[in-house]
Amino acid sequence: MPKYRCKPSWRKIKMLKVVSLAAFGIAMFSYAQAADISSDFVKSQSGKFSQGGMVVLQLTKGTKVSLNGEALPVVDNYTVLGFGRDAKLAQNIRFTRGQKSAQVPITLTKRSYNIQRIDGLPPTMVTPPEAALARILAQGKLKRAARAGLRREADFSHPFSWPVKGRISGVYGSQRFYNGEARRPHFGIDIAAPRGTKVVAPAPGQVTLAEPDMYFEGGLVFIDHGLKVTSAFMHLDSLNVEVGDVVAAGDVIATVGSTGRSTGPHLDWRMFWGGARLDPALVAAGSPSPPSPPSPPNPPRP
Ligand SMILES: [Zn+2]
Repeated sequence: MPKYRCKPSWRKIKMLKVVSLAAFGIAMFSYAQAADISSDFVKSQSGKFSQGGMVVLQLTKGTKVSLNGEALPVVDNYTVLGFGRDAKLAQNIRFTRGQKSAQVPITLTKRSYNIQRIDGLPPTMVTPPEAALARILAQGKLKRAARAGLRREADFSHPFSWPVKGRISGVYGSQRFYNGEARRPHFGIDIAAPRGTKVVAPAPGQVTLAEPDMYFEGGLVFIDHGLKVTSAFMHLDSLNVEVGDVVAAGDVIATVGSTGRSTGPHLDWRMFWGGARLDPALVAAGSPSPPSPPSPPNPPRP
């Protein structure tokens, strides 16, 4: 059994606490239900106000929105907010439309992260040799460029599903030790699946990167879901898409592999909102676990 597999550890996601404040000149809204900021300004809301979470808001026509003082882009009345692994818990959303405005202080759900040890990696995958540094730097640039555009589509408002079914073998946020050496936290969710298993687009989008041989990621595909929401799929065996392809939810984009820094076939799915790294497990509905096989019928009594 490959060593990268580790026990999934799910934290119970606590209910979000939303506090409403009144300030001079700002309309007061009180929110009876936690996690619900429906108001004059918000028609619908999905997602989790949590570290690692992504929240999609459907705004009433003409509403403008800012997060901590920064205006957020809106397309087709939708906007999206994301929170990184260690995002500060106090966040402030402000809505305006004409003369009306509302300020909504939000307290994110705090996460705690586990420690994951991965041993048995080739030493060059833990500390890359000098000769590989130029290649790693160039690939870093390529990745940043592929996530830099502001594609004005609201594909992120489509419900996300799991790109592959399988057992979760690594969770978001874990502090990682490779062959005993501390490295960056793990920002993806690992789903164990046999090599060659089809990987499908979890939501619609456009392919902004399709590289078969990245140093750490191996086969790597990025899908841009609009307004800086990007999915990344790593360690792919084969790629079915090219840069520029527009994909629908469920389209086959690649197959599962064990390329790059990997010790066994699995899909590592990551999500970004600009520079913030999101937890796909908070974005996708349900669980990626395949249904358990039906239990065998009772043997007939003699
Ligand atoms: Zn991973």
